[in-house]
Amino acid sequence: MPTAQTFSTADLHALDQKFETSDPRDIVAWAVETFSDGLSVGASFGGASGMAILHMTAQLKPNVHVFVLDTDYLFEETQETMRRSVPAIGLTNVNVFKSRLSHEEQAEKHGSALWMRDPDLCCEIRKVEPNTRALESKSAWVSGLRRDQSEGRANIPIVSWAPKFGVVKLNPLANWNEKQTWEYILQNNIPYNPLLDQGYTSIGCYNCTIPGVQGRAGRWQGFEKDECGLHT
Ligand code: SF4
Repeated sequence: MPTAQTFSTADLHALDQKFETSDPRDIVAWAVETFSDGLSVGASFGGASGMAILHMTAQLKPNVHVFVLDTDYLFEETQETMRRSVPAIGLTNVNVFKSRLSHEEQAEKHGSALWMRDPDLCCEIRKVEPNTRALESKSAWVSGLRRDQSEGRANIPIVSWAPKFGVVKLNPLANWNEKQTWEYILQNNIPYNPLLDQGYTSIGCYNCTIPGVQGRAGRWQGFEKDECGLHT
């Protein structure tokens, strides 16, 4: 089984070019075949594209390693979507990672409502560090990012090296748009977060997410920030 180090920068670039016109299902199939148990899928149970990726992967490998970052600030609707969709999609290896600091410990160490003062630090503590642990022994990480989700994501590669986590990063849905994603969700009867029908277009922690704003602009209102630090 290839490790992340099996691929040189040139190899990853060639794969990225090759997959530019590929169907996302073919990219997922390549990832499952290539990395097998070294593959991990990051799931938020928030957005539609993440649900599509989970379904595509489960079709080929129901026991694929899936990880969820539970920040302690997830919407109840997100938790419920996870409870409903895991058996519906047929996933059998879903792992929840939490911050090493409880909500109370974070408040004691860094002050209350850290997200209102230093959301980068809050995301580092509650998302980036747990993401590192989730990928500790893995070679490749699949996520559901799309280029049409924000300006900052407009040029994301399909295949790249994620130096922060030491894995090959795959964004099989990079070239799909919102319409294609929803067609896939509805055609395959995949459960999704009900907040998406209530004006939310991007769903993260309830502290930092508002409805009624397109794309990722509803996240971290008042800050020059539209990524949590996982994908940058
Ligand atoms: S999204 Fe907000 S509450 Fe969640 S980890 Fe980041 S700053 Fe903290």
